[in-house]
Amino acid sequence: MSDPFFQPVSGMELPRFAGVPTFMRLPHVEFDHPRFNEVGIGIIGAPWDSGTTNRPGPRHGPRQLRDLSTMIRAENGATGIRPFEAVNCADLGDVAPNPASIQDSLDRFTAFYSKVKAAGVKPLTAGGDHLCSLPILRGLASDAPVGMIHFDSHTDLFHSYFDGEMYTHGTPFRRAVEEGLLDPKRVVQIGIRGSAYDREDRDFAEAVGIRIITIEEFFARGIPDVMAEAREIVGTGDTYVSYDIDFVDPAFAPGTGTPEVGGPNSFQALQVVRELQGVNIIGADMVEVSPPFDFGGATAWLGVSIMFELLCVMT
Ligand code: MN
Ligand code: MN
Repeated sequence: MSDPFFQPVSGMELPRFAGVPTFMRLPHVEFDHPRFNEVGIGIIGAPWDSGTTNRPGPRHGPRQLRDLSTMIRAENGATGIRPFEAVNCADLGDVAPNPASIQDSLDRFTAFYSKVKAAGVKPLTAGGDHLCSLPILRGLASDAPVGMIHFDSHTDLFHSYFDGEMYTHGTPFRRAVEEGLLDPKRVVQIGIRGSAYDREDRDFAEAVGIRIITIEEFFARGIPDVMAEAREIVGTGDTYVSYDIDFVDPAFAPGTGTPEVGGPNSFQALQVVRELQGVNIIGADMVEVSPPFDFGGATAWLGVSIMFELLCVMT
């Protein structure tokens, strides 16, 4: 039987617009909570965007995502999965960044996720910009490199920005490969598109064996075929899933810092996650939702809907 403590508050008991919002109306369980050691999947806010190079705002993402996540109900209408009954899920609160220091923030994140890993909790993170994924991987992949399925319109594999800055939201996975956190031969990037500075990121990917599936190939082959290849690339080993909301077309997700036109619609945005069933997911994130550029909460609502799909394939 599922534990009543870990069940979300139903909209039938308390209207969805009422109450203090936690992720998906789950209990708020931080490290010192007496029931922390019973948590299986922890949803974590990462309110930090110091890696942003263009339009800012993802530091406000977790609060907006928590608010709109009160719309999430118990059952996945497409797959029938009821994640909150399958695994104890909880809102672990926010990682506290230092908005005045990138390096201190990276260290704080790494310490937080090392504790999450040590407790055997699988983290589902709401960003935050994409630099958040680097210290998350430092925490989770401390023993051995992991594989990754990465949805994005950008590779985030550049060496550096602004004359040598190594830590931006355009560089996290370059650092993660260099630091031995990712096994590049088990990494696939899906949805890549748009104009580019140059091919430096793609040349790096080719040199180390990262598979890039451009949006042109994605649409030419179709989702089931592309995702079957993605599952084969990561295989049965530990795999991280990183989902940048700018993977989705800006018509459906305008509230983000670096939008690129010509992307998947909101249905396709969910469908790719449903195809992850069976992958050995050790953690996942939803990043780059920027509430100041959102209209009526559409981007954040899509973001939490994708988070619910991620949760369903993590159980
Ligand atoms: Mn990204
Ligand atoms: Mn992106």
